[in-house]
Amino acid sequence: MLLKLLLILAAAPILFAQNDWDDPYPPHRIAGNLYYVGSKGLSTYLITSSKGHILINSSFDRTLPIIRNGVEKLGFKFNDVKILLTSHAHSDHVAGNAQIKELTGAAVYVMQGDEKVVASGGQGQYRYPASWKPCKVDKVLKDGEKVTLGEAELTAVLTPGHTRGCTTWTMKVKEGAKTYDVVIIGSPNVNPGYQLVGNTAYPEIADDFAKTFRILKGLPCDIFLGAHGSYYGMEGKFALTVVGTPKTNPFVDPAGYHRYIDDRERAYKKVLAEQKKQ
Ligand SMILES: [Zn+2]
Repeated sequence: MLLKLLLILAAAPILFAQNDWDDPYPPHRIAGNLYYVGSKGLSTYLITSSKGHILINSSFDRTLPIIRNGVEKLGFKFNDVKILLTSHAHSDHVAGNAQIKELTGAAVYVMQGDEKVVASGGQGQYRYPASWKPCKVDKVLKDGEKVTLGEAELTAVLTPGHTRGCTTWTMKVKEGAKTYDVVIIGSPNVNPGYQLVGNTAYPEIADDFAKTFRILKGLPCDIFLGAHGSYYGMEGKFALTVVGTPKTNPFVDPAGYHRYIDDRERAYKKVLAEQKKQ
């Protein structure tokens, strides 16, 4: 009992110090035409092309200076953002959509299942209240649909559960003679308070998560990314690029990808088993 208490106390500062959503973070190239321009805790990705750029995740209105500075620091124009995509319709990834659309005129594409939540500013989402500025959705995406702009091409993979339209983005990037498969995970997480059993607001939630784990396990992945840098150990990987020129790109991490999916699936199964017992 005492040991358990000590462990909880030791873990507490880490738990409470996790709010790094508003901290700036150095923008950086991940590989090829794919860049990180988000805050420390909220991932935003920039995919560049000769016809303009694609941005994944707006985060909050207050995150805009970090994202815009990141794009400009890397030598691109924020106004050249033509398409705004989304990991999933929770406020920490889409609340700033309307503002970015207004500033850049970007077209907003959202996966079927999340489109009404984005368009209404948060209404109809499971578990959380409406809380942000509504944003017109220019295109509702279907599972497997491709998004192209110039030479940039991404595929929208529906990975539901965390939200109904939770989207994992895949793309290929070229670096030198190599081509890498990139997976940007939408979210495999069962959030605190999620009801997997007897959920009247989202009856198919448990099956959706199960389907998502099957899909994620089957995706070819060299470069593993996600809606939060914490999914893929961003800080540690980025640090390796700062200290020198590593022989291999540290963001190439297929084993880490599978470890992460397996870990999240175990967490899901644990919650499911506990809730089934109740
Ligand atoms: Zn979320």
